[in-house]
Amino acid sequence: MQFEPVIGLEVHAQLKTKTKIFCGCSTQFGKSPNANTCPVCTGMPGVLPVLNKQVVSFAIKAALSTHCKINHESRFDRKNYFYPDLPKGYQISQFALPIAEHGYLEIETGQSGQKKIGITRIHMEEDAGKLIHDPARAKSMVDLNRTGVPLIEIVSEPDIRTAKEAGAYLRKLHSILKYIDVCDGNMEQGSFRCDANISLRPKGQKKFGIRAELKNLNSFKNVEKAILYEIERQTYVLEEGKQVIQETRLWDPSKRKTSSMRGKEEAHDYRYFPDPDLVPLIVDDKWIQKVERQMPELPDEKYSRFMKEYELADYDAKILTSSIELANFFEETAAPLKHKKQAANWIMTTLLGMLNNKGIPIAKSPVTVADFSKLLKLIEDKKINANAAKTVFDEMVDTSKDPKSIVKEKGLEQVSDHFELETMVAQVIDENPDEVVAYRDGKTKLFSFFMGRIMKKTRGKADPKIVTLMLKSKL
Ligand code: ADP
Ligand code: ZN
Ligand code: MG
Repeated sequence: MQFEPVIGLEVHAQLKTKTKIFCGCSTQFGKSPNANTCPVCTGMPGVLPVLNKQVVSFAIKAALSTHCKINHESRFDRKNYFYPDLPKGYQISQFALPIAEHGYLEIETGQSGQKKIGITRIHMEEDAGKLIHDPARAKSMVDLNRTGVPLIEIVSEPDIRTAKEAGAYLRKLHSILKYIDVCDGNMEQGSFRCDANISLRPKGQKKFGIRAELKNLNSFKNVEKAILYEIERQTYVLEEGKQVIQETRLWDPSKRKTSSMRGKEEAHDYRYFPDPDLVPLIVDDKWIQKVERQMPELPDEKYSRFMKEYELADYDAKILTSSIELANFFEETAAPLKHKKQAANWIMTTLLGMLNNKGIPIAKSPVTVADFSKLLKLIEDKKINANAAKTVFDEMVDTSKDPKSIVKEKGLEQVSDHFELETMVAQVIDENPDEVVAYRDGKTKLFSFFMGRIMKKTRGKADPKIVTLMLKSKL
């Protein structure tokens, strides 16, 4: 029997506020354990939560960027469960009335084009703390710095059908949250975390099958691998005539498999009820409009503008707008240049090639925007040719020096002096009479031979355009 995968994703994104969601404690990462705590976030009796307004504005921004409808009235609920990293015994979240619902995201799906993935809801909640297990002393400790850090949870409809689509959805959502500047997107530090829900159903059947929920997916690649594994596992279970168990499973990246973690709770197990310490949240149109005015250009809009304004190819525009850092790098590089497309080409091939090789993100590029732009200006002004520019670029990567001083040090200025080049062209023609005859007899492939000779004489610094013209006329 043929099975069709059905996938829905839950994303927890940490919001970039300075302070926590219900108290004034700092959200700064990497502080010593329990340095960022107070009676509110450690769940002391008698304290009261006060909602951080910035959290709501960020949630509205996320909702607007994902085409969600914002609820004018929403509510905070208590989600009750016991765990040592949750000192209150409940998490403040939104259940029945979330801040936003009914949105969608558009993703690329290879050749077949675009696909809309529905977003069920976005709600605000507080994060829990962290347990640190010390195997040496067989002890566990708790760090409550993360307790009360603001999160939004973005829940997708079960509209995703393949691991690839899941990857595309997550990359798009990640990119948007960084564009609108509400989340730093750092997956290693847990600022952007994903759970994947997967079930299979016989092809053609409407009703969904029983789902498993996968946790511990801390990179885009791991999400895709875990989903592929889980599809295979569930196919095997169903083909054996057995049933998939509704449960939470943990992905182990080193073993490349998922294993059962615990039975999946149902919503009613949490005994959700409205938090009596917090009044209903009212968001009026004025507030929404204020956030709307702060909305930056989003990836899809930037992509269309790049195609029009810089005449970039579809693929290039897509890559260059895939992250806000890359888009800004391109625009700042291109700003002082005449040939905008040349800037795109150099970023797509040389710069990204180098960064990928070294495994460095664009934000940490050893070549700054300013220096990169200066390098391209040297080509544009015909001070160096493309060959020399590659050499200069490699040196910039190693030394972070400014391109002009590298050109001077290495004597890489382009030779475009007409008299000098004409003398050389004449010399090369004199020195190679047999090749000249062969060329004139129709062996035009020899053109690159002559070109090579001249480049050798100038140690690669001749202006190839001028030399081409001169050689063509002399030959
Ligand atoms: P919970 O917290 O219990 O996991 P949520 O409503 O937060 O519940 O998330 C459920 C997620 O699972 C959603 O992304 C939804 O699209 C997805 N989902 C629901 N049913 C199925 C199913 N049968 N197969 C795959 N995914 C599903
Ligand atoms: Zn606190
Ligand atoms: Mg879930």
